[in-house]
Amino acid sequence: MNPLLVANWKMNPSSVKEAEILFDAVQKEVKKMAIDLVICPPYIYLEKFQYPIGNIHIGAQNMFYDERGAYTGEISSLMLKSLGLAYVILGHSERRQYFFETDEIINRKMKEALRCRIKPIFCVGEQTRESLNGQENFFELVIENQLVEGLRGVSSARLADIVVAYEPVWAIGAGEPATVDDIFRMGLFIRKVLTKLYGRPMAQRVKIIYGGSVTSHNAKDFIYEAKTDGLLVGGASLNATEFISLAKSLV
Ligand code: PEP
Repeated sequence: MNPLLVANWKMNPSSVKEAEILFDAVQKEVKKMAIDLVICPPYIYLEKFQYPIGNIHIGAQNMFYDERGAYTGEISSLMLKSLGLAYVILGHSERRQYFFETDEIINRKMKEALRCRIKPIFCVGEQTRESLNGQENFFELVIENQLVEGLRGVSSARLADIVVAYEPVWAIGAGEPATVDDIFRMGLFIRKVLTKLYGRPMAQRVKIIYGGSVTSHNAKDFIYEAKTDGLLVGGASLNATEFISLAKSLV
């Protein structure tokens, strides 16, 4: 299976011209590689790009949980679908932190995305690795809770459409990623929780990817040593040269 690379541009770049230059440079190189790439630009640039182009897909960074109505400033699943979008990032820690998205809100969005056949890239991650209330592996409980709540009511038939992105919040934009060992173990833990929820054969269908300070220097280890199905890349996806060499390092 090709590694899945998700480029989360967040609120960048600042003009449509720059977005087009970045997109063109990246797609020209990555379309020749055995990689599945999902580029997630800001909403306002989505319509500029043609999708999908072979192995290159376009995703949104968020969406609302109702399909239409009086929700000023929001974007619906139907709107994304009408542009032909295949993926949407849901539950990113920045949405949880700055926009107060709860597990319940994220769960509603998950169900709405799946209903519209848009694949959710469902982010989970602990704030800190420190033990809390004397509990050594408190961070595992945090991840388990995010998975259980985010997937509440999601049928096992839809698991093949879900990507779980393990994104420890402390590693995002920090320049300091989690270790290969931590990522490997968290991948096993996430699979264990999914197995508890859905049984082993179904749980195997979910792709598990890692995000947090991924660069062209460490990406390969996170795929081949930590045994993830792919990577979610923020900062390093904004520089075409860096992102192309990151992609090249995986093939
Ligand atoms: C992210 O935006 O989810 C992310 C992982 O960012 P960065 O790669 O910059 O740490």
